[in-house]
Amino acid sequence: MSTSEFVYLNGEYSSKETTSLSILDRGFLFGDGVYELIPIYNKKIFYVEDHLKRLRSSLEQINISPLLLDTLNLIKIINKIIKINDYNDHYIYIHISRGVQQKRNHVYSDDCKPTVLVMGENYKPFSRSDIVKGKKAICEEDYRWLKSNIKSTSLLANVLIKNKANNSNSYEALLLRDGLLTEGSASNVFIVKGGVIKTPKLSNKLLPGITRKFLADLISLHNLDYAECDISKDELFDADEIFCSSSTNPVVPITQLDDKTISDSAGVISMDLYNHTQDYIRKNFK
Ligand code: PMP
Repeated sequence: MSTSEFVYLNGEYSSKETTSLSILDRGFLFGDGVYELIPIYNKKIFYVEDHLKRLRSSLEQINISPLLLDTLNLIKIINKIIKINDYNDHYIYIHISRGVQQKRNHVYSDDCKPTVLVMGENYKPFSRSDIVKGKKAICEEDYRWLKSNIKSTSLLANVLIKNKANNSNSYEALLLRDGLLTEGSASNVFIVKGGVIKTPKLSNKLLPGITRKFLADLISLHNLDYAECDISKDELFDADEIFCSSSTNPVVPITQLDDKTISDSAGVISMDLYNHTQDYIRKNFK
């Protein structure tokens, strides 16, 4: 059965349900690839230059030439996907693997031609009342690799950790490496203490989230107090407010962390920022 949704794969537009890949694709065999998730609001692409810059950086770090992006013209492809599927508010995934190699081997051959997939996915963001209520999170040891700044499709650790959170009725797992907060399994993490919004500084241990950057822009626009700094486990549990950020839900207040109640409902600063994100999207995209 065919579907009315179309995806882009290696130059062709075809049905999402029936489009398939070679079993020899290194993305399947080794998780040898990178990806991006970009929000679409009212048919317009959100923070597109920042997303493409991060994709370029991910490609460079796994030794796939980012020149690929110049020849592809991804913005044109994304706009075509939006148009033919009549997407309004949606999410676009770009997946690029190193491509198909005839012999299964850890060592990649230099003449692999990258596989490029662009497809839409529809997530319903949390409602305002869910945001006000806040979500639960667990704390977990960050046992991922030390190149978590690459938006890699090798997501096994994130998958296991997110499922552990989900199995304990939690939205997210907040990760600690050497006693310091890094990020969530699928989000960046902020705390508020004494009126100051804090988040870990960028490093190889966390993804440079585009929503994290969007929030930093809004924080600066509204003259709020902000610091990028180390956050210890004690500081995390002692925070006045905690929230997670990601493309699908820009601000998700965490009101319960393991057995500790952080606050009875979303904190004032988290709600202010949530409202600023909604205002920005309304003003610039609707
Ligand atoms: N960290 C991780 C591990 C993620 O998977 C994500 C995206 N889901 C983020 C942070 C947030 O990134 P962005 O704001 O670009 O969606």
